[in-house]
Amino acid sequence: MSQVYDRVALIGLGLIASSMFWAIKRSGLAGEVTGYARSEATRDTARRIGLCDRVCDTAQEAVEGADLVVLCVPVGAMGTVAADIAPVLKTGATVTDVGSVKRHVIQAVSPHIPEGVHFIPAHPLAGTEHSGPKSGFAELFDNRWCLLVPVEGSDPDAIARLRALWEGMGANVDEMDADHHDLVLAVTSHAPHLIAYTMVGVADDLRRVTDSEVIKYSAAGFRDFTRIAASDPTMWRDVFLTNKDATLEILGRFTEELFALQRAIRTGDGEHLFNYFTHTRAIRRGIIDAGQDTDAPDFGRGKVSS
Ligand code: NAP
Repeated sequence: MSQVYDRVALIGLGLIASSMFWAIKRSGLAGEVTGYARSEATRDTARRIGLCDRVCDTAQEAVEGADLVVLCVPVGAMGTVAADIAPVLKTGATVTDVGSVKRHVIQAVSPHIPEGVHFIPAHPLAGTEHSGPKSGFAELFDNRWCLLVPVEGSDPDAIARLRALWEGMGANVDEMDADHHDLVLAVTSHAPHLIAYTMVGVADDLRRVTDSEVIKYSAAGFRDFTRIAASDPTMWRDVFLTNKDATLEILGRFTEELFALQRAIRTGDGEHLFNYFTHTRAIRRGIIDAGQDTDAPDFGRGKVSS
């Protein structure tokens, strides 16, 4: 794989940034990768484990001379970081981000992007419940999707270059409109996370069983919920605060369906339950037939999830 950018700056050095660094190094996609994290503790850890060719004490220092700047901070912090680095962005450079919500990031970051700098939002659909500079690994993006969400008038060459970087890091790349992205992610990721958080909270309320049965006898279903509910609180707080409308729309529909199922259980409407479950089973079959997932009981995913 050949070099795509001379200088890449990673702002925020958590799971996604560290995985990007190792994936960039694996394939020699950049000449030099600089990095910045807000806390001294994270910068020290990064230096100790060799995360980034150069760790800088300010975001501006990391960004100076960079051809690509990747904002890898929680969605709620994107605007402040963009305002901080704006004065030192190089003409012709590309700024991108990896935030889980796109419309909000575009609104928060775009006003700070100077003339002559490209802004191409992106979102890799890959992650784990772990966070911080030590949690990344080069394979995180292998065979996972990365969605590019170009704003109007984006430069095709800059988009093609960013696409080449993500493909070089192992991802499959697609382009999507910001509002559609936020709705799709509300269905596939944001609402399911909220349901997992709720389910674990409910189980914890039943304290008398938490210590023993709930964990001891939990099959994959509940264990997966506890794993998802261990995801970073800051990141997920920001996701729900910034993808409010789409998440509330999906949760409204979810609640209606839940009430209908609840009613079927109370009234003993077995036909309703059977037909509903037959329909959802067919949807799962369709996903497998379309090659979007494997039929393996553990989904064949091992440690990686989004
Ligand atoms: P992470 O492991 O928690 O790392 C976050 C990084 O951002 C840390 O280096 C942290 O610095 C820095 N940071 C936090 N708050 C900040 C602030 N207010 N100002 C400046 N820097 C700040 O997070 P991550 O999982 O890599 O997520 C980063 C982004 O990727 C988020 O926008 C998230 O929505 C998106 N994303 C996450 C996943 C996932 O599954 N985790 C998947 C796809 C996309 P310190 O360490 O110094 O506190």
